[in-house]
Amino acid sequence: MTAILISGAGIGGPALAFWLKAAGFEPTLVERAPALRSGGYVIDFWGLGYDIAERMALLPEINRNDYHVQEARIVDHAGRRLAGFGTKVFSELTGGRYVTLPRSRLSRLLFAKVEDRIESIFGDEIVAFEELPDCVRVELKKCG
Ligand SMILES: Cc1cc2nc3c(=O)[nH]c(=O)nc-3n(C[C@H](O)[C@H](O)[C@H](O)COP(=O)(O)OP(=O)(O)OC[C@H]3O[C@@H](n4cnc5c(N)ncnc54)[C@H](O)[C@@H]3O)c2cc1C
Repeated sequence: MTAILISGAGIGGPALAFWLKAAGFEPTLVERAPALRSGGYVIDFWGLGYDIAERMALLPEINRNDYHVQEARIVDHAGRRLAGFGTKVFSELTGGRYVTLPRSRLSRLLFAKVEDRIESIFGDEIVAFEELPDCVRVELKKCG
């Protein structure tokens, strides 16, 4: 079975691991952070990413984590509203296939799809590759 090393357990890493595993490969995730990141910014999620999440049977969890944002606002230094617009328009344009959720939560949901089925290494960073005749040697370095 072909082993594949994936750098990063953010959004792309676990999603790629899921599909590679489904295609019969043996992926390993390496993430330099000591654990999945928590908190952070929110992302608007729709289009191709949303379609792929649906094919991964993730929509129920994703929609449960939706922030149900009603308005995007421009505020002044004291947080007072200067202008804004309703976000219903995004939902209308995408036929309701649009959510806002924290990036770290999306990453966690994606990772949960593969964590029992692949090897994951946290706290290590990929620092070098060496291509050999029949394999690739990868150098990892402990972080922190
Ligand atoms: C403020 C902000 C708002 C955004 N809003 C949206 C939005 O509304 N909608 C949207 O679709 N996108 C949005 N994005 C973009 C979205 O967050 C990124 O496209 C997405 O997170 C990229 O996923 P990724 O897995 O490629 O990278 P990341 O999520 O950045 O994950 C990469 C991971 O790889 C790890 N890593 C890096 N180098 C190494 C190494 N050498 N060895 C081991 N691990 C390593 C990092 O620690 C990290 O955990 C936004 C981004 C920002 C900053």
